[in-house]
Amino acid sequence: MGTLYIVATPIGNLEDITLRALRVLKEADAILCEDTRVTNVLLKRHAIHKPLISYHQHSTLQRVQEILQYLREGKNLALVSDAGTPGISDPGNKLIEEVSKELPEVKIVPILGPCALTAIASVAGFSMDAFLFLGFPPTKKGRKTFFEKVAASEYSVVFYESPYRIIKSLEELNGILQDSAAAEKHSIVAGRELTKKFETIYRGTAAEVAKQLKREVPKGEFVIVVERGRG
Ligand code: SAM
Repeated sequence: MGTLYIVATPIGNLEDITLRALRVLKEADAILCEDTRVTNVLLKRHAIHKPLISYHQHSTLQRVQEILQYLREGKNLALVSDAGTPGISDPGNKLIEEVSKELPEVKIVPILGPCALTAIASVAGFSMDAFLFLGFPPTKKGRKTFFEKVAASEYSVVFYESPYRIIKSLEELNGILQDSAAAEKHSIVAGRELTKKFETIYRGTAAEVAKQLKREVPKGEFVIVVERGRG
């Protein structure tokens, strides 16, 4: 039986990859990846030449069966996502569930590394001993409930957002915080393009950060921490 390595890769800066991750990618028989173009940039930078197999959130059952067959044949596979740690708002969990169910003898090994969630937690400056991670806010229905959950949380909350919706999300969050008793006591930290050339860390209330982003026309990906209410 082969081994399935779940390999964290950079969230921007291509130097953010561990020696172990590079060794695993070099030694694997094949690399499962979301977008071959994205993964090829990383592999090229580190002079790694490996067959790539596409595996993403819309992959068919047939693709999963092919992957299971490789593992049965003793092939060692490395799963990467476009950025960061697979399984964190990224494909991986479904495959791992199948592998652990169908081939319990296969070792599933985490190869640690970057993650936007832990990156922002490390610079938040809030108590992050316990926090709630909610992934992306819904894009259509359920947004109000999502931000109410954020505002009501007894823990600091981390969520992800795209540049297209960041201002809208911060304004909606601000509106809900305004209605809550702890409104004055909340502050947020938003990380934009972490580890990249235009990395920016914004601190303030949701309204203040939204106002600043409006002036700048936000580009790049965002990760946000909302400090838990101190009330
Ligand atoms: N698996 C990834 C991880 O470990 O962080 C997350 C994948 S999720 C599809 C992509 C989202 O993560 C982006 O929309 C953004 O919210 C956040 N993200 C990824 N890279 C980031 C970066 N360099 N700076 C800020 N946020 C980032």
